[in-house]
Amino acid sequence: MKASSFLHFARFGLRTILLRRQDPILGTIILTDKCNLHCKHCSVNNITAVIHPYRQVIGEMRQLYEMGVRILFFCGGETFLWADSGRTLRDLVIEAKRMGFLIVNVVTNGTFPLDLPEADLILLSLDGDRERHNAIRGDTYDLIFHNIRRAPADNICFYMAINQINKDAIREVCLAARDTEHVRAVSFNFHTPYPDTEDLALSREEKAACCQVIAQMMKEGAPVFNLKSAFPCLIENRFPTPCHQCVVMENGRLSTCGRCIEVPGLCERCGYFFVAEYTLLFRGNPRVMLDMLRTYLRYI
Ligand code: SF4
Ligand code: SF4
Repeated sequence: MKASSFLHFARFGLRTILLRRQDPILGTIILTDKCNLHCKHCSVNNITAVIHPYRQVIGEMRQLYEMGVRILFFCGGETFLWADSGRTLRDLVIEAKRMGFLIVNVVTNGTFPLDLPEADLILLSLDGDRERHNAIRGDTYDLIFHNIRRAPADNICFYMAINQINKDAIREVCLAARDTEHVRAVSFNFHTPYPDTEDLALSREEKAACCQVIAQMMKEGAPVFNLKSAFPCLIENRFPTPCHQCVVMENGRLSTCGRCIEVPGLCERCGYFFVAEYTLLFRGNPRVMLDMLRTYLRYI
């Protein structure tokens, strides 16, 4: 991370903590909900299958920038399916950088060529070893690793949503993150139980066991892009929600924290690690602050 970006985030953090502000710093733009996969745990693919046009996306980027957002995520559906009049996802990333966003990340299922060296991080969903990943995401494991091998930059971070199917494959994903060229780290979430995927949710005891494995893997040197200091709150779902520093834009509609904010009762069972990490940070939790400093400087 550049020193100027670090100073911007440090100033933002201090202002938010000391003045109890609720301004956003992290914004996500949903480019489309169209997706080539139908993962078992997913409740958001192909509802409209509309690919939002370039001008609209650029307008949404400007709006977020003017609100103070400086960390931008492009998300789907599948982001690499986005295209408009010859423009591709890569053009959006380049434009976002030009506009002044300090960190620009992309979330993908990894089934398309990962030709995106301009992105700070490509968050690529890997949901276990071959067997468990394919059980959740269809037969995509080998294609994903083929694409990773051919990636032009070392900016890939695995993204694993832990659920009933893959909860015993955390170690395998940590080792893959450590040993695969072009992969920088792995970032975890627990499954957030939308009404149609309740059966995949983990109990408190299962979450505690998963956090123990992640912590052990961290100790053994696996590159985990999460904050251990937030684990106790994640296990108990004892963190403030929603996260006011995060906003999501979908088809011109702005939501605080996530689209899921509209699902009754979901925030109390939220499994997104970033929500716990950010809300604890901006409440001024000193352990989380130190942990975040160490972790973010290492992986971004
Ligand atoms: S790749 Fe993402 S958007 Fe597509 S079905 Fe899977 S989880 Fe849903
Ligand atoms: S479930 Fe609630 S707290 Fe979690 S990401 Fe969605 S809106 Fe945020």
